Amino acid sequence: MKKGLGILAALLIIAAGGYVALNQHSATKQDIKKTVSKVKQSVSRETSAQKKYPIKIKTGTEAAKLLIVVNKKHPLPSDYNPYNGAVTGNNPDGGGLMTAANEAKSKLILAMQQAGFPIASNVSSFRYYSYQQSLYDGYVTQHGQSWADKYSARPGYSEHQSGMAFDLVGEDGDLPTSTTMYNWLKNHAYKYGLIIRYPKGKASITGYDQEQWHLRYIGVKYATEMHKWGVATLEEFTGISGGDYNSDKSADVSALDEYK
Ligand SMILES: [Zn+2]
Repeated sequence: MKKGLGILAALLIIAAGGYVALNQHSATKQDIKKTVSKVKQSVSRETSAQKKYPIKIKTGTEAAKLLIVVNKKHPLPSDYNPYNGAVTGNNPDGGGLMTAANEAKSKLILAMQQAGFPIASNVSSFRYYSYQQSLYDGYVTQHGQSWADKYSARPGYSEHQSGMAFDLVGEDGDLPTSTTMYNWLKNHAYKYGLIIRYPKGKASITGYDQEQWHLRYIGVKYATEMHKWGVATLEEFTGISGGDYNSDKSADVSALDEYK
């Protein structure tokens, strides 16, 4: 009897071991299945996002106006004035912004002030070509051209001339640089149709280092899409090239002729 029990016990142990091993094996199989399906899902998500951008825009449409890309390869003509001359002077009342951009700016600033950021209600916005020229020339005289190109736009290449962009100004009168504000804007600006035009680590695409104070209006629809799809720059969203200046100006394409 004793011997028989011993054999039975040994058999039971072997069987149990086999059961555990089998279970572990099937658990591993399930894990692999889960991982494969997760990878498949994320691949299909990426593919569907890639299909959506760069988005297709036709020239002359409202979308083409909203998504105008002014950068170091796509300047505005020297006489370009989004108001057809109706607005005079730099930073006139209303910030010199296009109406929708101006409304978005006011709503955003109110929300920022309510969230506790020390942001002034006035902004630095529209700049004439001639004003940008005097700014840029001043920087070149004072600090040299490479400094000027790093921190300021050459005349015609400034997004401020579009009437769609503005710089936030702190209550102390300086440009606000806080990281907390940068993160807040990344999560909230799109609700007002605004984007951080020069996000962190994208200088090779936008042509500028991080500027969390420089916001650009593109409308709630497109700003929400960029946020949802995780597209950081307007260049990537529209498929329009950016980065540094062309060494030969003749390679430039007017910001007004980007969309076909
Ligand atoms: Zn700016």
